[in-house]
Order: sequence, then C-alpha cells, then structure tokens
Amino acid sequence: MRRLVAGTGWKMNNGIADSIRYAEELRSRIAAMDTSAIDVYVLPPFTSLTTAAYAFDGSPVAIGGQNMHWEDSGSWTGEISAPMLLEAGCRYVELAHSERLQHFGETYELVRRKLDKAMSVGLIPILCLGELAEEKAAGRADEVLASQMLTAIDGQPDTRVPEIIMAYEPRWAIGMAEAASPGYIAERHRALRNILRKHCGDEVAEKTRIIYGGSVTPENGKDILEIEDVDGLFVGRAAWKAEGFARIVELVSEAARRKQLA
Ligand code: PEP
Repeated sequence: MRRLVAGTGWKMNNGIADSIRYAEELRSRIAAMDTSAIDVYVLPPFTSLTTAAYAFDGSPVAIGGQNMHWEDSGSWTGEISAPMLLEAGCRYVELAHSERLQHFGETYELVRRKLDKAMSVGLIPILCLGELAEEKAAGRADEVLASQMLTAIDGQPDTRVPEIIMAYEPRWAIGMAEAASPGYIAERHRALRNILRKHCGDEVAEKTRIIYGGSVTPENGKDILEIEDVDGLFVGRAAWKAEGFARIVELVSEAARRKQLA
C-alpha cells in the first residue's frame, strides 16, 4: 500500500521568525493526530531551511528545498546544491514547479539532471508534472505529462522510480479559485499511472506515489483524496497558515486510515 503524503510549499514566504512561529503552531495543532501512516513535508525558502529543520525536529514534519542545482558546488552564482540541502536538514526537494518553468526558463532536460543528482545523494524528489491551459484545450494533456515524466526520469533504473513523489499540478489550476474537477484529476492520475506501467512495469506503477496540487483547500481536499489514484495533497496558499496545513494533515491522515480499513 502507498503511504499518503501531505505537503506544502511556502514559495517566497516565511522568513526565519515566521518559520519558527509556523512550526510551533503546526506542531501543537497536529500533536494529538495520528500521523503515523502518512508522510508530511514543508518546503521553506532557502534562508529558513535550517531554522525550520530545528523547529520541526522530532515532529512528523520533514522539510525540503523548493529547487536545487545539478552540480555539487562551483561557479553557479545564486544557486544551492543537493549536498547543501542535505546539510541544512532537508529530506525532500521540489523539482519543476510551474513557476520555475514559467519565470526561470527551466526545462525538463535540466530537471532530469537535478533529479539525477537528488537521487544520487538520497534526497526525495517531488517531481511536478502538469499541462498548460492551451495543452489541455488541445487534448494534449496526457501526451505532455508523458513527455515531462519520461524526460525527467530518463536514466533512472526502474527500481528507483518509486522513490520519486510524482506531483500532478495542472499549471492552469495553480493559484486559482478552484482546483481541477475530481473527474479530471482522476483521468490524469490514471494516465500518469499508466505511463509508469507502460515504461517501468506494474510493480513500479503500483508503488509510486502520485499526489495532486493546484488550488487544494481543506474544503475540496476530502473529495480529491477519495480518488483512487490520488496518493496525497500538495498545497500552496491554503497551507500558508499553520491552521490550514493542520487541517490538510488531518484530512490526509483520515484518508490513510480509511484506505487501511478498506
Ligand atoms: C503550488 O503552487 O504548487 C500550489 C499548489 O499552489 P496553490 O495551492 O496555491 O494553488
């Protein structure tokens, strides 16, 4: 059975003081919850990583970077490497977020190099995959998702693919008033699992987590978690307050219990 995931990326929010406040509040809000069956992550900005790592130490919350470079060190002004993330206390790294592709010109070819480095040092990649509105309108969503995923995982042995968390984040649904519809999410998650099945085999497809992100809230999260191929939630704005993320963690924990009983 796949462990469900509850995650949030803070983007360019929460400096050191706010990170401490958030961590203290989140810890107290989730202290009484049974989170033993799920994985929880928070992705602070780089300057808050070490602080957040200490502030969440001993809690169910692990931290991760929002991006990284593919080299270990060198003349790459403004960049952060995988060993630096590890040293700062990270367990995860987010790759290919829509805003990285849109504003910073990242491509899945660069993402492939980053993913390879992350895997080689033991960071868990959260690999974002998602189609643009135009690609959706042209009926090309699954073709785009296949190309993104296969480019990013090219060169990885099949047996290691389940270590990657695939995050389906339709680019037209990020930062919006509404998430994609449950029917649409179900179709894309099924398609993503079928891509894994075709290229990496049944066992890899069954083991790999595919989480959904894009305008998730505590209100719509429960229905999204009911979808068979959805293995967790990746939340932006609705989790920028500790209270909101605590509600998401609770929803995911409850969904994990339901799946265990089913
Ligand atoms: C995101 O940016 O990855 C995201 C899911 O944001 P939001 O939940 O705010 O749409």
